[in-house]
Amino acid sequence: MISIQNVNKWYGDFQVLTDCSTEVTKGEVVVVCGPSGSGKSTLIKCVNALEAFQKGDIVVDGTSIAAKGTNLPKLRSRVGMVFQHFELFPHLTIVENLTIAQIKVLGRSKEEATAKGLKLLDRVGLAAHAHKHPGQLSGGQQQRVAIARALAMDPVVMLFDEPTSALDPEMVNEVLDVMVQLANEGMTMMCVTHEMGFARKVADRVIFMDRGQIVEDCAKDEFFGDINARSERAQQFLNKIL
Ligand code: ADP
Ligand code: MG
Repeated sequence: MISIQNVNKWYGDFQVLTDCSTEVTKGEVVVVCGPSGSGKSTLIKCVNALEAFQKGDIVVDGTSIAAKGTNLPKLRSRVGMVFQHFELFPHLTIVENLTIAQIKVLGRSKEEATAKGLKLLDRVGLAAHAHKHPGQLSGGQQQRVAIARALAMDPVVMLFDEPTSALDPEMVNEVLDVMVQLANEGMTMMCVTHEMGFARKVADRVIFMDRGQIVEDCAKDEFFGDINARSERAQQFLNKIL
């Protein structure tokens, strides 16, 4: 579903990604972790072409990002993305947040988009809040709305970039629960997160990044199994967060 092939990216003279390669198959859940500044957000933004890269390619569900002529807005509409800061439209109601892109990008009718939005709000446990504005919801609720908004576009994959790290601790689980449910339903997911409980529960694989490189890319059981078998950098990181 996602094939990252030898991706290299520079910000000016600074090489932020070096020879990154991995594959995410349909239905797989891959957790990406690593120290701050290691390039996790940059890599995940490259997957939905929010950031350009200079070398290599990323193929999403058969569509090459590097190929000339690829319709990047169309590709982006099929890749759901959830950020650390929910980035809901503050002046729109919750249900309007869920319908605007369906109407403007996918050309759905207002009725169809609203029906879909309400169904997804129900699924994340927020049906009662449809006509409120984002500012009236807690951080955890807003992040669940952001997930529902991404799902409203019928994405083929979902990307998460530290979706719980801006939340108060008591709100982390309500967001992780929605993500676990998605994973169990077979959604293909790439999640940057340091929530190792989540990784242990639903990840198929764990990628560890350091200084712009994928240092470890292994099955979850292997990653958490014998920590002494991990690279030195991964051990240092795991010792801090586990
Ligand atoms: P992570 O998500 O792992 O914390 P990032 O992908 O955000 O790491 O950043 C990787 C590196 O790239 C960092 O050193 C960061 O300072 C740098 N960086 C990120 N965005 C930019 C940018 N727009 N311009 C220049 N450097 C950037
Ligand atoms: Mg980041």
